Amino acid sequence: MARRKLIAGNWKMNMLQDDGVALARGLAERLDLADAPGFDMLVCPPATLLRSIGQAIAGSALLLGGQDCHAEKSGAFTGDVSAEMLRDLGASHVIVGHSERRQFHGETDAVVNAKAKAAWRAGLTAVLCIGETLAERDASKTLDVLQRQVEGSVPEGGTAKNLVLAYEPVWAIGTGRTPSVEDVAAAHRHIRAVLAKRSSEAAGIRLLYGGSVKPDNAGVLLKLDNVDGALVGGASLKAADFWAIAAASA
Ligand code: PEP
Repeated sequence: MARRKLIAGNWKMNMLQDDGVALARGLAERLDLADAPGFDMLVCPPATLLRSIGQAIAGSALLLGGQDCHAEKSGAFTGDVSAEMLRDLGASHVIVGHSERRQFHGETDAVVNAKAKAAWRAGLTAVLCIGETLAERDASKTLDVLQRQVEGSVPEGGTAKNLVLAYEPVWAIGTGRTPSVEDVAAAHRHIRAVLAKRSSEAAGIRLLYGGSVKPDNAGVLLKLDNVDGALVGGASLKAADFWAIAAASA
């Protein structure tokens, strides 16, 4: 099944209004000028920038997403943001289960599962992250960990429209290190097979690779079967690099 590539930028806790709006606006203009670019592009800025970026890119093909959401719709959850609130600001996607949330906020597979369901409740596409730690990799547990995370984090009912899975080895995020192409291929093949037991639409669900994707390694990673795009952190903060990664996918 043909799956259109998705190039997603996770800005993390970076960017103030002016620079963030300028970056998003520049990408939107470039995307709209491109003749059939052959990929979808998504930016996930901090929640503080969603409104101004949503307004700046309104009507363009550039997609907007949040970096996290609470499982509940509203209530006494100080500091949290619901999926409905993201949707209200023009977001169509939300990242859930990023390893930094799992690591620094203690999010378990059950929490991530509830957040993915919240995203669906609000009509958002969940960009759900999974990936092994270095210790798990060194113990040859990568495929087992990925299976456990898919089974625990991904709710039943995932479709090509409401779900994107991102394989992000924790040890590759922000480190400049990436797995071998063979290892990425094996991980994505395995994820697709596990997903097939949970969703009749598994063949259409996009699987992104994330972890130190740069313009110089994007081409080889994005050519692999079952790698349907990239989730990009650091390199998504520079328009030229992010665009070069996207161009490598086409
Ligand atoms: C990420 O944070 O999802 C990520 C992949 O970061 P980086 O590209 O900087 O490794």
